[in-house]
Amino acid sequence: MDLLNTLVDKGLRRELPTRAEALAVLATSDDDLLDVVAAAGKVRRHWFGRRVKLNYLVNLKSGLCPEDCSYCSQRLGSKADILKYTWLKPDDASKAAAAGVAGGAKRVCLVASGRGPTDRDVDRVAGTIKAIKDQNEGVEVCACLGLLSDGQADRLREAGADAYNHNLNTSESTYGDITTTHTYADRVDTVQKAHAAGLSACSGLIAGMGETDEDLVDVVFSLRDLDPDSVPVNFLIPMEGTPLAQEWHLTPQRCLRILAMVRFVCPDVEVRIAGGREVHLRTMQPLALNLANSIFLGDYLTSEGQAGHADLEMIADAGFEVEGAGEVTLPQHRASAGGCGSHEEACGGCDSHEGAGVCGSAPAATPAPQVDEVRRDLVSVRRRGAGTDLAPNA
Ligand code: SF4
Repeated sequence: MDLLNTLVDKGLRRELPTRAEALAVLATSDDDLLDVVAAAGKVRRHWFGRRVKLNYLVNLKSGLCPEDCSYCSQRLGSKADILKYTWLKPDDASKAAAAGVAGGAKRVCLVASGRGPTDRDVDRVAGTIKAIKDQNEGVEVCACLGLLSDGQADRLREAGADAYNHNLNTSESTYGDITTTHTYADRVDTVQKAHAAGLSACSGLIAGMGETDEDLVDVVFSLRDLDPDSVPVNFLIPMEGTPLAQEWHLTPQRCLRILAMVRFVCPDVEVRIAGGREVHLRTMQPLALNLANSIFLGDYLTSEGQAGHADLEMIADAGFEVEGAGEVTLPQHRASAGGCGSHEEACGGCDSHEGAGVCGSAPAATPAPQVDEVRRDLVSVRRRGAGTDLAPNA
């Protein structure tokens, strides 16, 4: 297929596809899907070999958020029966992090619900970062605490944070449909603050919220403009008790096309499969490793993932290898360009928590596919790990 040959060539040269090319990837047929995966897989292997980076989420503070992100089980007014707790003590957070590191994670993502941290919260997280780094030599730490005020990114950097995550989530034009308590511009501003402070920026998206193909391409092009080191791709987990509980639009095939499109647009960036991997990719997860070079190990913020050992077995069975602590994730041109030097991106955002670009020849807006295969049987609220007396999944 000419399209795929063109996209592979561009990916190997780090050249931005046109919007029309990105849209065409999303519009490919199931008959062409393996060709799409093989093509994007060439780009993935060129920049990241067969390595898979493991990241581990620690939810420092769960639920009771004053913001109204409609995809989020921790939002204002959420009826989701999730764990709710205030800030974990540094030692408890460090114990949870250690479980992930022992399971093979090289990055720990410290996430807290809320609009953004107070300066006191930043001090608190600084203590947690110190405890984790003291007890887990060489571990990378990413903070994900919401919108940052002036100076907070610098303070997190000084406290030892390597990266900061804040997702754009969806296109600028539809952002107001999913959240009213803050703006898309607020989110961009926080990613830029993290960048400016020398933190490795991590910013990604959530697919499956009823968006169009154009929205998906818009947000991925916008992410590319922001130049994050890592891009987490969340697939909406429509949690009962949230406004998007009925939004079941994803198939494994669509998830693969979305990951392939992200890989072509962000060829040398750590692309991470984030929340919703098990729910929406299901038995196609191993195929997705040909597209993404990073996953979360174990559980998510408010939902449970598959067992950590199943993640490891999947990686080995698919012919990939877990990236070691001494290996540099990003290609050399990116790893040496600033950020946190030897590592890359960050975590998945507050749970399943624009792009410049070229070419204006995109077709007219395409309605999002209406699949509506409801798989609530695959959604489990997290009942173990941080905030409980039960051992974490790692
Ligand atoms: S995504 Fe983050 S800011 Fe939004 S409601 Fe959830 S916890 Fe709050």
